[in-house]
Amino acid sequence: MNAEYRGVWTLSEVRDGRIHPVSYELLAWGRDLADSLEVPLSAVLLGHNIAEQAGDLIVQGADQVYVVDDLELAHFRPDIWTKTLTALVNRHRPEIFIASATSTGRTVMPVLYVDLETGLTADCTELSIDTKERLLLQTRPAIGGNVMADIKTPFCRPQMCTVRPRSKKPLAADPARTGKVFTESVAPESLSSVIKLLEFLPEKNVGAPLQDAEIIVAGGKGMKKAANFALLEELAGLLGGSVGASRMAVDLNWAPYSSQVGLSGKSVTPKIYIACGISGAVQHLAGMSASDTVIAINSDPEAPIFRVADLAIVGDVLEIVPALIGRLKS
Ligand SMILES: Cc1cc2nc3c(=O)[nH]c(=O)nc-3n(C[C@H](O)[C@H](O)[C@H](O)COP(=O)(O)OP(=O)(O)OC[C@H]3O[C@@H](n4cnc5c(N)ncnc54)[C@H](O)[C@@H]3O)c2cc1C
Repeated sequence: MNAEYRGVWTLSEVRDGRIHPVSYELLAWGRDLADSLEVPLSAVLLGHNIAEQAGDLIVQGADQVYVVDDLELAHFRPDIWTKTLTALVNRHRPEIFIASATSTGRTVMPVLYVDLETGLTADCTELSIDTKERLLLQTRPAIGGNVMADIKTPFCRPQMCTVRPRSKKPLAADPARTGKVFTESVAPESLSSVIKLLEFLPEKNVGAPLQDAEIIVAGGKGMKKAANFALLEELAGLLGGSVGASRMAVDLNWAPYSSQVGLSGKSVTPKIYIACGISGAVQHLAGMSASDTVIAINSDPEAPIFRVADLAIVGDVLEIVPALIGRLKS
């Protein structure tokens, strides 16, 4: 049965009518896998009025693009996304299907793998091919980030996983690349949704989305109360950065879940990560230790965050952050 499945697929994402760069990171992963298996790499593109962007996916590494362009797909709705993808997978039978571990990927792929009766590894940080067995090796942190587990899907197809955004750089765009674009249609019932979109409310965030931010000022329980997060917003604003948070701060309702950094939040790789009153639990480090430079402010000289910090500031964050703000303003 497995032999009937061939090729590597990636799920492209569209935001505000444009292909999101995370789709190109995924193509970089997919290219390596497809080359190891000597099979084509295909990108799946769902949306409305997006067909003319399919060529961008080829320029960024895809050999083929499957496009479903329909008004019903203009906004992301999980039920019609999964029904459409199920129809495409059953029609073309890829051996591997990968998506980004964004909220879209994390929503669609778990429903899709149940519909397809296969398996799913969430939040991988590394992908490779076991060429002897022709299997996808899906590597992800396990047991609180203390071990890296290699997971295989030997018996079912497609082999499916989500990959952390920012875990690979997109390939350099190659305008000379050529490929095929297939316009696909699906049955009308696949495009009927029980979800009605009433309104789109953008997230209230300081600065760029966390995963795109070059500077992140993150706060933890050491910030003492929600109101003190205004200091972090001010500092982030002055530095042109974004605000992040530990899970403790999110659980205390001092910051939204969208700003949580760590194992059960976002993985970030900014140029500068300023950790304010964050202890540095392994689950937090799992999401930020790949930052280029870590600056930590903590009153406890033994705080574990200092083990990953390039610059350690021992002191009261509620004195140091206002002093920094004052200095930057002057
Ligand atoms: C399955 C699982 C998943 C998890 N996922 C995540 C995750 O995604 N992200 C995450 O962050 N955590 C996660 N956690 C929780 C994690 O284990 C920690 O509990 C959490 O990171 C602690 O947050 P914190 O550093 O803000 O708080 P604390 O650990 O309480 O640390 C507060 C720090 O502030 C310092 N401090 C206090 N007052 C001051 C002051 N005035 N000035 C300067 N410093 C001060 C203290 O010295 C201390 O180091 C997860 C846990 C589990 C079990």
